[in-house]
Amino acid sequence: MDFKLTDEQELIVDSYRDYMESENWEAYFAECDEKHEYPLRWVRGLCELGFDLIMLPESHGGLGLEQPAVTMMAVYEVLGRYGAPTYVLYQLPGFETIIREGTEEQIEAVLSTLGTGEQIWNSACTEPGAGSDVAALQTTYKRENGKIYLNGTKTFITSSAGVKYLVIMAKNADDPEMFTEFFLDMSKPGVSLSPLHKLGLRMDSCCEVYMDNVELEEKDIFGKEGNGFSRGINDFNFERWLVGCSDYGMSIAVYEDACRHANQRIAFGKPIGRQQLNQLKVAEMAIKLKNMKNMLYETAWEADNNDGKFDPGAAAMCKYYCANSAFSVVDDGMQILAGVAVAGEHRAQRIWRDLRVDRVSGGTDEMMILTASKFELKKYRD
Ligand SMILES: Cc1cc2nc3c(=O)[nH]c(=O)nc-3n(C[C@H](O)[C@H](O)[C@H](O)COP(=O)(O)OP(=O)(O)OC[C@H]3O[C@@H](n4cnc5c(N)ncnc54)[C@H](O)[C@@H]3O)c2cc1C
Repeated sequence: MDFKLTDEQELIVDSYRDYMESENWEAYFAECDEKHEYPLRWVRGLCELGFDLIMLPESHGGLGLEQPAVTMMAVYEVLGRYGAPTYVLYQLPGFETIIREGTEEQIEAVLSTLGTGEQIWNSACTEPGAGSDVAALQTTYKRENGKIYLNGTKTFITSSAGVKYLVIMAKNADDPEMFTEFFLDMSKPGVSLSPLHKLGLRMDSCCEVYMDNVELEEKDIFGKEGNGFSRGINDFNFERWLVGCSDYGMSIAVYEDACRHANQRIAFGKPIGRQQLNQLKVAEMAIKLKNMKNMLYETAWEADNNDGKFDPGAAAMCKYYCANSAFSVVDDGMQILAGVAVAGEHRAQRIWRDLRVDRVSGGTDEMMILTASKFELKKYRD
């Protein structure tokens, strides 16, 4: 296993570094965070550099990279180091799902936005009565007079105020064991939203989504009828790994802020970095960063060598380990930055809030532990 980036990957990473250096993006991020606004101008610039082509198959205009996941990881790493809100980017590398599952019309709808940075789609499973236990969902679809009618409520749905389409998981009203997804045009009559206030991840919307007898057609089914759960599995694994990349990257920003501060801030006649309690924090932060990096690159490397498929156990470990380690790195970094971090307008505050949410969204810590241990124990079954 060799994690050294190729010359091509180095050039790609350099272009994103230059972009991050091209202006004071932190001021823009702080403003978007404050206003709860999607940072479209920043994302558009990333897409102009080809961000949304990194994982797109070459047949559909993608870059055709040999190691798309490793490249994506390297890009997340460099963006995160600048404190960028990489969590708003999760849907952009996921175009592969649309190509695999979508009809021509659905693929065209999504790919028509390539290069624009616009939010276009996301998937919606969670309901007020069905979080970790997704199978408890109550949203139903029913066929009547040649049409399909969708009824139910989804909650905590990321990007739902910004996207044109949501992939909705529902069960057949006449066969509750059959779970199917629908490519829902959000402008349809009967769809409405209620925004939710969030602790972090504020540059992306999060709403309750109500569907009141929304009329759909057969062509609006996403993937195969009855395939709702199996469709999502590799996508969940990919997303869990990507959350790990995002958390790791953003924690580097606060780690570096804290280390610079530890070298400069004088207390009791010497830099605080020479106090042993702070040295312990720095060493532990650095160890966590190194572990996260190795774990994420290894998982990416394995996926690139396995037709893009992410190992479920490894993906769950990445999400669990990185969400917690990155949060702990940022929390310790804030302790070193002290008053500067918790009062005033330091970016550590925003990143700390964002990382706390990631221990719940995209699958909780506890569900990651269950998945990781399930796949570990499986290896030792006769
Ligand atoms: C900001 C945000 C964005 C989100 N975006 C989306 C989205 O775009 N699309 C979408 O479909 N969903 C989304 N979600 C939903 C998210 O996936 C769920 O919140 C998550 O799965 C947990 O569900 P819950 O909040 O209902 O908690 P619950 O499932 O009620 O769990 C409560 C607690 O019990 C624990 N628990 C539950 N079952 C077990 C068990 N068997 N063993 C041990 N512990 C258990 C949980 O880990 C948790 O700590 C989002 C959530 C948030 C917060």
